Amino acid sequence: MVLKSFAYEALPMRVRFGSGSVSVLAEEIAHLGLRRVLVVCSPGQVRTGELVGAALGELSAGILAEARMHVPLSVANRARDRAAELGADGCVVVGGGSAIGLGKAVALEHGLPVVAVPTTYAGSEMTTVWGLTGDGVKRTGKDPRVLPASVLYDPDLTVGLPVPVSVTSGINAMAHAVEALYAPDASPIVSLLAEEGTQEMVAALPAIVRNPRDVEARTRALYGAWLCGACLGATTMSLHHKLCHVLGGTLDLPHSPTHAVVLPHALAYNQAAAPAAAEALSRALGEPDPARALWDLAGRLEAPRSLADLGMREADIEPIAERVVANPYANPAPITREGVVRLLRHAWAGQAPA
Ligand code: NAD
Repeated sequence: MVLKSFAYEALPMRVRFGSGSVSVLAEEIAHLGLRRVLVVCSPGQVRTGELVGAALGELSAGILAEARMHVPLSVANRARDRAAELGADGCVVVGGGSAIGLGKAVALEHGLPVVAVPTTYAGSEMTTVWGLTGDGVKRTGKDPRVLPASVLYDPDLTVGLPVPVSVTSGINAMAHAVEALYAPDASPIVSLLAEEGTQEMVAALPAIVRNPRDVEARTRALYGAWLCGACLGATTMSLHHKLCHVLGGTLDLPHSPTHAVVLPHALAYNQAAAPAAAEALSRALGEPDPARALWDLAGRLEAPRSLADLGMREADIEPIAERVVANPYANPAPITREGVVRLLRHAWAGQAPA
């Protein structure tokens, strides 16, 4: 292998992983020097929040089940107020990217340390990226203060994640690995994480579809999600994430289903210009054409494959392409308006990537 020059910065965090590891959460909190923590989750995740609260025992100050998409500033302030009322000196966030986003906002605005217990495969817990919505405007940025001090991955908490969400969230995770492999700041260590993460997710998802309560498959998926999330946290994303960001932000399309539809098309756009990434993905997917393999996999897993099915109108294609090409960013293949329109047409119609 010929090694190019690279830079790599490890993010400071602890990880506890394994089935049943919620039982070591109290130990983890004590290790961090925290005394009482507020448990934060989405309204739909109250039972999991309570389970985590019970595992914390006296270290739990209470539960706030108000996490929502796009992290409203008002909710972040309420979480801060609640933590102050209850004398909490940290937050344990339980759930998907929305709940973890709320924990990050509280860390950013009010300095409370966060311990994350992820129950989807979105990977937010591994990044310094935050988002906050106030007065109808969503702000995003990067700040090391929002990085969880500790992340606890317990696959047992994910067995109830509905199959369609598991599948699209798993593809969302793979998107981080795909783009990390051809990122401008790629490195050999991140490529190892990306290939292994993809391989684990590809093995796990069909087993989860067959039996969502298969703890071994859930363990492999969560391990893959961790690795893919670490890729997201370590590199700069390209065309795929730009497309999903614009589609989500402009048309309010759902986060992980949008990633599931777009990924094979974005990879098809880039793979000839990123041969080493394509090779790694071919190994992980066990197929010579990774873009086609991802599209076929999405079909077998009954994931959405058409942006039209997610609510996008054909008339939206041109304006979305306009936004995607408006500002330059790193990408293996040159970004052209015609190329992006063609990609979006295929993705909109649910056609195979080309
Ligand atoms: P989500 O957090 O909105 O969760 C999706 C749904 O699954 C919710 O209804 C939730 O209640 C439910 N759910 C979660 N875990 C469950 C479980 N174990 N069992 C049953 N139901 C469960 O969605 P997501 O895809 O995890 O996250 C998407 C959000 O995260 C987006 O807003 C995205 O922008 C953000 N995100 C941010 C980063 C970052 O680095 N900042 C990275 C990835 C995603």
